[in-house]
Amino acid sequence: MRLAFGESLCKNVLNFMLIVMKRSASDDDVTRVLAKIEKLGFTSKVIDGNSRRAIAIIGNDGAIDPTKFESLSGVAEAIRITKPHKLTTREAHTENTIVAIGDAVIGGEDLALIAGVCSVESPEQVFEVANIVKKSGARFFRGGAYKPRTSPYAFQGLGEEAFKILAEVRERFGLKIVTEAIDEKSVDLVEKFADVIQIGTRNMQNYSLLKRAGRAQLPVLLKRGMSATVDEWLLAAEYILSEGNSRVILCERGIRTFSNHARNTLDLSAVPAVQRMSHLPIIIDPSHGTGKNYMVAPLARAGVAVGANGIMLEIHPHPENALSDGSQALTPSQYLQLVGELNAIHKLIIHPLKTVAISS
Ligand code: PEP
Ligand code: MN
Repeated sequence: MRLAFGESLCKNVLNFMLIVMKRSASDDDVTRVLAKIEKLGFTSKVIDGNSRRAIAIIGNDGAIDPTKFESLSGVAEAIRITKPHKLTTREAHTENTIVAIGDAVIGGEDLALIAGVCSVESPEQVFEVANIVKKSGARFFRGGAYKPRTSPYAFQGLGEEAFKILAEVRERFGLKIVTEAIDEKSVDLVEKFADVIQIGTRNMQNYSLLKRAGRAQLPVLLKRGMSATVDEWLLAAEYILSEGNSRVILCERGIRTFSNHARNTLDLSAVPAVQRMSHLPIIIDPSHGTGKNYMVAPLARAGVAVGANGIMLEIHPHPENALSDGSQALTPSQYLQLVGELNAIHKLIIHPLKTVAISS
């Protein structure tokens, strides 16, 4: 079958063009490319890399002729890509995305630790855990104000009251707050009191929420849907990026499989798969990924070994009394021991050559 220029075999596969600028390209060169894109009736997004810029053309249904751009000053190449993903791809952004919230970073050289409570239950519970999290050197505190529970009869979270407790954690301990928004309205409160908007597994395909998060000023931690493929997960991230928010952190939290020895099957192979396809940072949540206290530490260690940018962990001072997810909560002492192990493994991972040199 012969296709005319611009026709696509499959309507769901998007044609996308990436214009990679030369290192030496000036701002005027970029402006000229943007003007040309506008004249052709398409929209664009400038992607700033460490050493060069790229421009993604969005809003085109059919393929665009690359020669329209290749002759422009400052253009290194115009690449036609036929993929369902655009802004999350490595073609769109060759360098890894580093999400920085002040001096706390996810996606850099350091292992990011996001630890805290499953649900905010009381100031005492939260401050006790925040103290341990701070002591461990972690920079991020997690805690649910809204709990999207499978059962409507299970604890649903303290709501607005919880935000005040989380805001106090930020103030007193200097930790960055990661908390879940369950609908568009709750994004407003998360923006007011927290530092990272979490979107949970049950909402990975809540497109109005994704779009609202894409217009937010805060980074978004996007959990993988419990039955989502990596492609579907990245397309959910596209919703956020295409609204203008490129500070997205992906979180693998286990998927549904036929296995029933754990709450979920933590899919560690998602880490190299995502890293090959996307520039976005990826972290592992072994707490929800396993649902069992005794499995959390081994899978957290494996998550670091497989190259995740960070680990998310739930702690409870008295897991037997927890209002949610007590079976997977680490005790404070288990958590502190685990952090030591994770940091040691991470050192080996980021300095592999040095390690080989020492052992040979
Ligand atoms: C959570 O992290 O609080 C949570 C509810 O996790 P998940 O969305 O992965 O079930
Ligand atoms: Mn939980």
